[in-house]
Amino acid sequence: FTPQELKNIRDQFPILNQSVNQCPLIYFDNAATTQKPQAVIERLIAFYQTDNANIHRSVHTLGQRSTDQYETARQTLSQFIGSQDDSQIIFTSGTTAAINFLARGFAEPKLTKGDQILTTALEHHSNLVPWQELCQRTGAHLVYLPLTENTMTVDFVLLNKMDTTNVKFIVIQHVSNVLGIEQPIKQLTDWAHQRKIAIIVDGAQAVPHLSINVEEMGVDAYCFSGHKLYGPTGIGVCYLKSEHHQSTQAVNFGGEMINQVNDFDSNYKNAPWKFEAGTPPIAEAIALAQAVTYLKAMGLHKVFHQEYVLSNRLYQGLKSIEGVQLYHPLYQSNFHGIISFNLDNIHPHDAATAYDYEGIALRAGHHCAQPLMRYLKVPATLRASLAFYNTVEEVDSMLEITRAVKEFFTNALK
Ligand code: PMP
Repeated sequence: FTPQELKNIRDQFPILNQSVNQCPLIYFDNAATTQKPQAVIERLIAFYQTDNANIHRSVHTLGQRSTDQYETARQTLSQFIGSQDDSQIIFTSGTTAAINFLARGFAEPKLTKGDQILTTALEHHSNLVPWQELCQRTGAHLVYLPLTENTMTVDFVLLNKMDTTNVKFIVIQHVSNVLGIEQPIKQLTDWAHQRKIAIIVDGAQAVPHLSINVEEMGVDAYCFSGHKLYGPTGIGVCYLKSEHHQSTQAVNFGGEMINQVNDFDSNYKNAPWKFEAGTPPIAEAIALAQAVTYLKAMGLHKVFHQEYVLSNRLYQGLKSIEGVQLYHPLYQSNFHGIISFNLDNIHPHDAATAYDYEGIALRAGHHCAQPLMRYLKVPATLRASLAFYNTVEEVDSMLEITRAVKEFFTNALK
């Protein structure tokens, strides 16, 4: 972006223009949640000011308007991820809800004792705990996929030697929320489908940083959260290929998802509505579509390029500071905005507090990825995660403050 373009962008994010602890806020916690542009905030307000009504139930004008906007939002999200059929887009409250739905509704009916589910040691707890629970209910087993040391992506050499007789599902993230690593989803999908294995992908950290085409990748299911994509909290998307709609069971039952309710049984609407019982997050879905429209208008390639430039600058800068440990594998060329690191002899929580004194919002902890922390042999890391509205100046400030934080703790320890 040109300096003027970046200024215009930052003007669209009012929250960025504030001081924290008497310093200008540097918001580097975008992998946890992103800030919302004015267009999204205004869309929420406008909906409640002029159109608010429940959907799919009313013949009155407001009800029709809200229904139209909600279904148009579905269409916008469908096009955004390259889905060829809007019915493949199921609105959920977020990635976690989407994965729990897939575990119960899509996977559970197809699993029996002794079946296997493949996953990786990189998964966010949201894409691990539901599968652990599912295994306990069904007697299926989780099997961790081999990763290559240099890239920490799936090792196809070892994969091709695996006995896959009992494997029914692969559940895997697209981009890691700790290391920013991208898994080769298309290649993995081809491998899986040759063996009649279904693949479910956690795209929470991918959708904000990559152009997604679910049909080209060929995945069976793909999930993400609106709040990490500059939209509101409480809304997410579960893409589920239409060929699986019949065999997938609803997990929530109630209003909106039914066709006919008899005294002792009922029958249900077609997908996606049979999977959306009750009043959905209407305003949130509409505002998420607004976020997508906003991003597309800016040019996704420009958004991604800015993130690429900033995260490389931060990575190289941190690498040049003595006593900074970076956790990224050797052959990583794109961080998707995410840099994980530690400062020697300083607990990440203490460091994060020191950064906060200087106005920098960083995340410290296990990042909901405890198996990965064990793999990396660290209890926790610091994580800086960048978005397109961040600036080179902010990156350079963080590098300067990193030196100061190190010095402060070194002197304090003397
Ligand atoms: N998967 C990944 C890779 C994530 O980064 C996150 C959010 N940190 C989730 C799943 C869960 O998303 P949510 O909390 O929005 O349901």
